[in-house]
Amino acid sequence: MSASALLLFSGGQDSTVCLAWALSRFDRVETVGFDYGQRHASELTARPRILQKIRATFPDWAARLDADHVLPLEVLKAIGGSALTDSITIEMGENGLPTSFVPGRNVMFLTTAAALGYRRGIADLVGGMCETDFSGYPDCRDETVQATARALSLALAQEVRVHTPLMRIDKAATWKLAEELGGTALVELIVDETVTCYEGDRTHRHDWGHGCGACPACELRAAGFEKYKSA
Ligand code: ZN
Repeated sequence: MSASALLLFSGGQDSTVCLAWALSRFDRVETVGFDYGQRHASELTARPRILQKIRATFPDWAARLDADHVLPLEVLKAIGGSALTDSITIEMGENGLPTSFVPGRNVMFLTTAAALGYRRGIADLVGGMCETDFSGYPDCRDETVQATARALSLALAQEVRVHTPLMRIDKAATWKLAEELGGTALVELIVDETVTCYEGDRTHRHDWGHGCGACPACELRAAGFEKYKSA
């Protein structure tokens, strides 16, 4: 167990599992979210709800869960051109990446989080980046994340460590990890409260949670949950 960590917390499934992971390993965990002009605010509104439920359900973790921060990164919206910030259909683009790709997003998130961590005296960042996602976002690759950590360590003249517990595992293993960390109570909390859907749909409830059921993010979440349940 080491001192403090700062978790990149979006309110989605992956970062909520990472929150449990961080709370199991660090004495104190702060969280940071980013308002970058997402087309759907449901992830941002889920964040305080999830933090409140974690506190209420897991007293040991509640004692370690510290300040939450939300930082504006509207520059990403101003740059635009992504299905996550503009009214663009989510599909495979000509460059072989989904139109949901937000160029530079994770590098900017890590840079901003490291700067906040610097102010807060926190050198350990935790993020839900995952190489095995269907999307193949280049800024989710381990090489990108660790090269960014190296650049930030140089830029701040002190070590920045980035922990990515989901980097090499698939969605079924992510559900399994949630169960190992917090039992069925955590699995249920994630099903009920986290938002993955690209449409931000909270009106349709499935056994794997809320979502439109048709977008790539919903399909990935549903398939992962199915595989986890049948394992
Ligand atoms: Zn959806």
